[in-house]
Amino acid sequence: MTSLSFRRNWVAAVLVALAPTVALAQAYPAKPIRLIVPFAPGGTTDIVARVVGDRLGRELGQPVIIENRAGGGGTVGADAVAKAASDGYTLGMATVSTMATNPATNPRMPYDSQKDLVPVLNLVNVPNVMTVNPTKVPVTTMKDAIALFKKSPGKFSYASSGSGGISHLDGEAFKVMTGTFIVHIPYRGSGPALNDTIAGQVDAQFDNLPSSLPHIRAGKLRALAVMADKRVESLPDVPTFAEVGLADVNNMAWYGIVGPAGMSRDIVQRVHAASVRTLADPEIRKRLLDGGSYVDGGTPEQFVQKIAREIQLRRDIVRKQKIVLE
Ligand code: GLU
Repeated sequence: MTSLSFRRNWVAAVLVALAPTVALAQAYPAKPIRLIVPFAPGGTTDIVARVVGDRLGRELGQPVIIENRAGGGGTVGADAVAKAASDGYTLGMATVSTMATNPATNPRMPYDSQKDLVPVLNLVNVPNVMTVNPTKVPVTTMKDAIALFKKSPGKFSYASSGSGGISHLDGEAFKVMTGTFIVHIPYRGSGPALNDTIAGQVDAQFDNLPSSLPHIRAGKLRALAVMADKRVESLPDVPTFAEVGLADVNNMAWYGIVGPAGMSRDIVQRVHAASVRTLADPEIRKRLLDGGSYVDGGTPEQFVQKIAREIQLRRDIVRKQKIVLE
């Protein structure tokens, strides 16, 4: 064999070996994609996933099937994403809780949110809100609510979407700042938490706006203040936390898409491009905004940086306010 024909044969052999990989990447996605929502139905994670998921599936040419895997304040579902095959057929909804507040507060995390998951993009930023059951807490202002809670420490309770999550952190920050004691009741997501707050099993709730908004509009819950830089369009009469003198609980939640670490750059880019096209659709944007979410977007790299910043921010909040999560 001449050295030239040897080289040709060698090149051909390499091409044959690579062919299935190339074909696989080109064919992606060739079957439905699972999008894990690490909280119960009816919460903001679920709402955002369902608004975006259907259209994302059409952009990718394969259905996006939503699977709710609640538990452990979101860590069970996020861990399932981290441990799934990195072939692009399992994606997960990433939330401020699964990516930042849990890692910042739980020393025994089953996964590392910065190493075991690969960020695709942040979809939306979302204000948080404190509500009360209007019958159980018959007040219309934050000032009166605080006075009522102070009169009877331990008598009132608040619901969160899970221990170590954003709504738990908000509730405990509120208690530290106001010198009140209200009992924390964790749920497997805002959906079941809302059911109990509306029914009056629990007196108050810290939540992300999109899941609470329809119930506030229907008068079943009363919003006392929102956590956002300025008042939100959907609740123009509700003051911000800063306006009622509680500036330090001024923070937003966010919801994005991640995959298991090891997911190829090519798949990340395909899902990213399809997500960007989804978010550019005026109808999707309107549904998100009307529902209380602000569209974000951005690159995978920007999402990596946001996650790092947010972990640090939540660590600082816990340390500065001396929050003890119970
Ligand atoms: N409240 C959200 C839900 O139940 C989860 C908390 C979060 O990470 O924002 O879907």
